[in-house]
Amino acid sequence: MICYNHPDQQACGTCKNCSKGICKNCTTDLGDGIACTASCVEDVRKLNSLIYRNLKVSDTTSKRVFIMPIFYMFIGSLLLGINLYLKKVDTFVVIFGVILILFGAYSLYTAVQLNKDDRI
Ligand SMILES: [Zn+2]
Ligand SMILES: [Zn+2]
Repeated sequence: MICYNHPDQQACGTCKNCSKGICKNCTTDLGDGIACTASCVEDVRKLNSLIYRNLKVSDTTSKRVFIMPIFYMFIGSLLLGINLYLKKVDTFVVIFGVILILFGAYSLYTAVQLNKDDRI
């Protein structure tokens, strides 16, 4: 590959933004990829921070998918527990509690399955 700016020079890499081949003299090393011109340096910086932010967001969401199901199951158990504690069975509350627990268990199962797929 030949440098996009210097036809007599061999390219040492490609710009992360525009994918042009560039030689050592044209390269700005950003640590996480190389860029050719000043405008590409800016764009590669933005690209890198975008990727970094996306990684962070997907990290926190994968933790959050476990919290909600556990929360549902907790509320469901609490409703059933209150019924048992008061020894006064309110059918609606019991059904609602059971639905919450089942929904929480199902969500937790789905979240575990999704997380498994992520790791492969
Ligand atoms: Zn470029
Ligand atoms: Zn060059």
